[in-house]
Amino acid sequence: MTYRVEEILRLIDHSTKEEDEQIRAAFLFAENAHKDQKRNSGEPYFSHVFETAKILAELGMGASTVIAGLLHDAVEDVNVSIDEIKEKFGNEIAFIVDGVTKLGQVRYRGADKHNESLRKLFVATSEDMRVLLVKLADRLHNMRTLKHVSLEKQKRIATETLEIYAPVAYRLGIRKLSRELEDLSFPYVYPEEYAVMKKELSEKRFSTEGLEKFLKSIKKALAREGLTHIKTDFRVKGTYSLYKKIAAKDKNLENIYDLAAVRILVDKPEECYHVLGIVHKEWRPLPRRIKDYIAFPKPNGYRALHTTVFTGEGDVVEVQIKTYAMHRHAEYGFASHISYKGGKSADAQTLEWVQSLLTSRKDSNVPLKSTDTPTWIRELVEYHNDTEDNEIFKKGLQKDFFNVRIFVFSPKGDVVDLPITSTPLDFAYAIHSDIGNHMTGAKVNGKLASLDTKLKNGDIVEIMTRQNAAPSRKWLEYTRTSTARRHILRFLAKQKKSRQ
Ligand code: MN
Repeated sequence: MTYRVEEILRLIDHSTKEEDEQIRAAFLFAENAHKDQKRNSGEPYFSHVFETAKILAELGMGASTVIAGLLHDAVEDVNVSIDEIKEKFGNEIAFIVDGVTKLGQVRYRGADKHNESLRKLFVATSEDMRVLLVKLADRLHNMRTLKHVSLEKQKRIATETLEIYAPVAYRLGIRKLSRELEDLSFPYVYPEEYAVMKKELSEKRFSTEGLEKFLKSIKKALAREGLTHIKTDFRVKGTYSLYKKIAAKDKNLENIYDLAAVRILVDKPEECYHVLGIVHKEWRPLPRRIKDYIAFPKPNGYRALHTTVFTGEGDVVEVQIKTYAMHRHAEYGFASHISYKGGKSADAQTLEWVQSLLTSRKDSNVPLKSTDTPTWIRELVEYHNDTEDNEIFKKGLQKDFFNVRIFVFSPKGDVVDLPITSTPLDFAYAIHSDIGNHMTGAKVNGKLASLDTKLKNGDIVEIMTRQNAAPSRKWLEYTRTSTARRHILRFLAKQKKSRQ
């Protein structure tokens, strides 16, 4: 099998000549770096980074992100140094590759560790969203080829995908990714439930031919009314989202009407209503199934007109009518904001994303529970609720949270978020008061550090303890957080009392 860089270039819309050259260079560099490696499937390892880059290009990403996709395993797997990437491809790409490598070192350790892993995703994300997108594309390709790895690994990877990656993709609004990640994971994580769903669906599911026939007659009806610049397609509901819907609403397949949906894409919002009128004239709609999400968008920003009609062939099909722009936003969400030349800083991207999180937080489909939400996101929400003026909110958001919080790792990879100028003492108390109260010293990034060291974003902090160690009054000068201060004062007070 040979891989051709043209396949990637063709998918990128607006690249410059220089960018194309850089993509070619990255393609050759990665091909060479991975030349001695094979995947479990027996294919060259390069196929994986090649497909990852293609997924990113399909998502509408620009040259830098696609190049980072080609290079994303070079540092971790074949010992190319990050400096070499920097030298050959520049700081921006090296930064993304480095972020992906760091994220790759995060291990999922069962559902109870869910929070930490999510937090790590958020940490990487708060620096540059593109890191997260490369990671999602990487995961999607690994899921597509999961049948080649051991059963034990299949289960672990698929569970992690279902619990972390798919919800994150959903939250970013990239439905196209979240749907595929869910459907690929489902059979590995819940094999029995999957088998039941598959059997029921095979008895019920619409035939492709039937839907295509219906679409043809829709197109004909629209053409008669002069609507020709339209695009149609259909989607069959994902097995996993169907399973969730049935489980959550205690329904059965008989009363789920969006098993199959056809989409009609038009240029302008007003044409959506025109199309709806034509559809209703030709096919009888089901009552109470007509939804105007253009006038009343869903909390997550989704816009479209929905109706459900009898096809005349004994089927009931949902019809979704939207503009091309609405469709792109629904399928690609966040990715559609940061595509190739957004010209936006990582901060601005993050800001936009967090705001979309805030406005969608009441969406019951979002599988993140409030207890799973990182503290800093929760603080943002509380802050938002206290602030009436959106402009003030925006400013405060940037200033107070992205510039004054840092994320620090334990050697095991757990993340603690702290205010800037926090010290190892703050970190120790943030983990547990017992650790703080018995602390004797700390290592920051493997080196011994004094207790008043100012920690930086991304530092790995190891706390050393001894059973008979105890806090001193001096420590109060070395702490930034009220948590640490409170514990130290409490300890000192107790000590005083026991001495009396
Ligand atoms: Mn990879």
